[in-house]
Amino acid sequence: MGLLLIAGASAAQEAVSESASGKTRDGAAVPPRRVLVIGIDGTRTDALQAANTPHLDRLIQDGQLWTNTQILGDRPTQNDTVSGPGWTSFLTGVWADKHGVNDNRFEGRNVDAYPHFFARVRHAYPAARMGSFVDWKPIDDYLVRDADVRVCHESHGASEYEQNDGKLATAAAAFLRDDDPHVVMVYFGMADESGHAHGFHPSVRPYVDAIARVDERVGQVLNAMQERPNYAQEQWLVVVSTDHGGQGTGHGSGHEIPAIRQTWLIVSGDRRSPNPPASSVATSTEPSPSYLVDVSVTALEHLGIPLDPAWQLDGKALRFDSPPHPPAADEPVSHSRKALSENE
Ligand SMILES: [Zn+2]
Repeated sequence: MGLLLIAGASAAQEAVSESASGKTRDGAAVPPRRVLVIGIDGTRTDALQAANTPHLDRLIQDGQLWTNTQILGDRPTQNDTVSGPGWTSFLTGVWADKHGVNDNRFEGRNVDAYPHFFARVRHAYPAARMGSFVDWKPIDDYLVRDADVRVCHESHGASEYEQNDGKLATAAAAFLRDDDPHVVMVYFGMADESGHAHGFHPSVRPYVDAIARVDERVGQVLNAMQERPNYAQEQWLVVVSTDHGGQGTGHGSGHEIPAIRQTWLIVSGDRRSPNPPASSVATSTEPSPSYLVDVSVTALEHLGIPLDPAWQLDGKALRFDSPPHPPAADEPVSHSRKALSENE
């Protein structure tokens, strides 16, 4: 209880105190639900759809795919359509006019005021277990904080990214299997490298094959998550997206180019979050707008963390409200999901 009190009382923490799984053995507060966030650099929507991606397909079956995801917001900002601002928006939930990252130099970054979402989790749940796995080093250098396990394999060129993506998948899978994580962020870089080398397009075989290879890594990580002994009770949510698309062999200055600025986003898994705020609810009946900044906000909301207006988040929590496939014979009908759709 000590840590719970230090963090300050809130509705979410009251919910935690009621949850049998919401505490560690020594009573410290941990999130009542869990999140796996996966970032796949430089993956065009049409190439994703052309690639053989059985693991991502399965996630979509158990959740929802958005293909209208904007990597830029409605306010004018100074940032280029490259990885620096992209991953910063993804991880902080705010646009570049706030986080200050306009290109891959990260100069002028304002990430103490608008930190990686791990910082929000750490503040609400000091005992949460969090892991970050990346091979584009600037993410680790400038953005990652509050991680209990932090793996970075600096990479240059397609073959290094391919190798290191594999190491990241193995490390993240081990963390999921052997540890007790509440939040896991895994980044894969080889699709973007392949796009730069061969072209970002669904007709470019090496690029599409690279996306399929990343899907295998995703499968490795998902298998480890699903093999957790208490997986069925842990209410994992998986959120997957990219930082930008591409055209030709690049993606800079893509503000007006749909193949670069409009991407995709997957939210999958258990969304039985109690009393979701009505304003943040997006349903699957209409394709709701989606933005890169929604990734971390969706994660925070699922973790039961009240979104403080003082954080000035630009993202919103994305939801889907009905099971898109019939439950298996031994799976009880989800009453909370039913209740959700009745309330909306
Ligand atoms: Zn790139």
